[in-house]
This record gives sequence, C-alpha cells and structure tokens, in this order.
Amino acid sequence: MKFATKTIHAGIEPDPSTGAVMTPIYQTSTYAQAAPGDHQGYEYGRTQNPTRHALEANLAALENGADAICFGSGLAAMDGVLKLLSAGDEIVATNDLYGGSYRLITKIYERFGLKGHFVPMYDAATFEKHLTPKTKLLWIETPTNPMLNIVDIRAICDMAKARGILTCVDNTFASPYLQTPLDLGADLVVHSATKYLGGHSDTVLGAVVAKDADIAQRLHFIQNASGAVPGPMDCFLVLRGIKTLHLRVQRACENAEKIAAHLQGHPKINKIYYPGFPDHPGHEIAKRQMRLFGAIVSLDLKQDSLENATKVLSNTKLFTLAESLGGVESLIGHPATMTHASIPREERLKVGLTDSLIRLSVGVEDVADLIEDLDGALAAL
Ligand SMILES: *Cc1c(COP(=O)(O)O)cnc(C)c1O
Repeated sequence: MKFATKTIHAGIEPDPSTGAVMTPIYQTSTYAQAAPGDHQGYEYGRTQNPTRHALEANLAALENGADAICFGSGLAAMDGVLKLLSAGDEIVATNDLYGGSYRLITKIYERFGLKGHFVPMYDAATFEKHLTPKTKLLWIETPTNPMLNIVDIRAICDMAKARGILTCVDNTFASPYLQTPLDLGADLVVHSATKYLGGHSDTVLGAVVAKDADIAQRLHFIQNASGAVPGPMDCFLVLRGIKTLHLRVQRACENAEKIAAHLQGHPKINKIYYPGFPDHPGHEIAKRQMRLFGAIVSLDLKQDSLENATKVLSNTKLFTLAESLGGVESLIGHPATMTHASIPREERLKVGLTDSLIRLSVGVEDVADLIEDLDGALAAL
C-alpha cells in the first residue's frame, strides 16, 4: 500500500458492532466478560482500547514498523523508551535536542542512574568517540529543533548497530510523510503526535513505533505498567488528523520553501536556517533521506537582541506567537525563551541558538498572505 492510502486505510476497519466507517471513540474504562477470563480481547482501559489500537496499527504501517505504542504525550513516549534502560546505562543524544527531551534525561533520569551525553551528530567520525561500552541508547533528532541540523540516520545507525546499541529517532519534525527512519536502520521511532500527526493543534499525544515485535512487546508492558496512556478521544483526533497528513505536510513544505527563498538576503536577517538551501551543510543528506525539506524555517536577525526578536514576534498578524508546531496554522516562536528555556544559555549559544533566533512553523494558508505578514513584521525593526 502506498503512503497516501495508508494514512486513510491502514489499521482501520469498519466497526464490527455497528459498521461505523469511522473508528468510534470507545469511551469506556472496562469491558464485560461472559465468564472470568472469557472476553473479546479487551479487559481494562489502561491495557486495551479499540480506538487506541486502531491508531497504533495505523502508525505502525506509516512508519513501516512491527507495532506502535501510544502514550499521553511525546515526552511520555520518550519516557517509555528510557524505561527500557537500567541504572548505569548511558545515552548519547543529539546536542541540539528538543528542550523537554534534554530535561527528561538530565533532570529526571540522571537521578535514577542513567547518564546523558549531548554531542553533535553531523560529523559521524567525531561522534563515534563518544560511544563507550556503557552506551545503550542513541537518541537522534533530525531535522533538529530549532537549528534544523540534519543527521545522517543510516550512517549513525550502522555505527550503533555494529556495537549493539539501540537507536531511536525522534521523527516529530519530519513526520513519516517525509522520512521513515526504520527503513534507514533505526530500531525505534518516537513522535510527538501533538505536532504534524494530529496536525490541528487540538490534542497532545505521543507514540513509539518499533521495528521488531519483541521490543514492541516490552514497550507494551511498560505502557501498561507505567500507565501513561492517551484517552480514546485524543486517539480519535490523531487518527482523523493523519487522514490528511500527506496533503498538509506537502503544502506546508511548499509554503516553507517559498518563504525561505523570499527571505533570503533580507537586510534585517543575518542567517536563515533551512535544509532546502543547497549551501545548508546537511542538504545532500536531507535530499537522500527526506521526501521534502520540512516546513520549519528558523531565522537569526542581524542585530542580536531579545528586544529585536520581540519586535518581530509581536508584529505578525497571521503567524501566531505560540509554542508548538505542525498545525494547519502558521506559528512563530522564540526558542530561547519558549521551547528551549530549560536549556542553559551557554549550552544554547554553543549551538547557535541566540536571543534573536526566531522559529517559524509554516502552515497551509495561502503563501502570499504569509509572506506579506512576515515582511510587515520585519519592517517594524
Ligand atoms: C513537542 C516535541 C516533543 C514533546 O512532545 P509532547 O507531545 O509535547 O510531549 C518531543 N520532541 C519534539 C521534537 C517535539 O517537537
């Protein structure tokens, strides 16, 4: 089945009890049993839910995995993956990681005896030095947030596999429409379905997709044992969002490309971060492993100050100033004070995340209106 067909049909059957074409929201905590242990595969809402199962089957198909396991949020999904590890194990992660992922490793799991190392992964040779016999998990994000660095998933996963290290790619920024890491050698994919998969900024949900059934089994055990499951209504919303994933992401990427091209060389902008530019250091890898270059564009203003950034951020009319990304509507954000506020300033600056860095999540509106909006806000400087 091709991708655009999978988004609509994979894992989804008309409801067996009524024929409902759309997967119903099974808003129930428990299921009737005919006799003790005699049930239809559903016993208790934390352990099994048909709406959640449909979403898990759909996601497994989109990412070409054996199975998917859904959680209450993207970070709960990451938390589930980290619970595969034991005290003493070490994690090597991309150095410009999503702020919440960095916080989960350093502020929670380091207290339980895990250790995180945050290293640049764009240069496979340098990166290899950070792998030790204690390294049990590689955590990859690509494109990274908000610097849009590109990691060569195949090269990094090959290196890890040779050492028996588990690899997990946070595929939130690309979505499976653009990139399927399991096909490039990764063991696990994590999503904040809050973003492109849901796509309408109306729900919070997370998922892990596993390439192999045995790791999926362990994750199902963790999901049930720890209990961070999403509600059936949220699963329904994400299932509905996924039906248009390919259409939304296609249009958003096209809009982003036009915006990046328009802003290039703007007198108020110092630098634009966009993997679609041929001089972007990860451009060739992105071309190889992604269908399109994504719908996030970051820009650094010529005069680096919080004040300047604030002027632009408060003068857009269509781009809404808000956290998050991946919805149909365009958003503008300030990583230094918003998504990345939990990362120390020195760490931020090391990766180029200045006070004047602005991140755009380009939506699916008419691109002419979006360009006019950005031009207007930059004119306020
Ligand atoms: C938002 C996000 C997360 C966290 O997901 P939540 O659903 O907010 O818990 C993780 N990784 C990336 C790349 C994200 O953008």
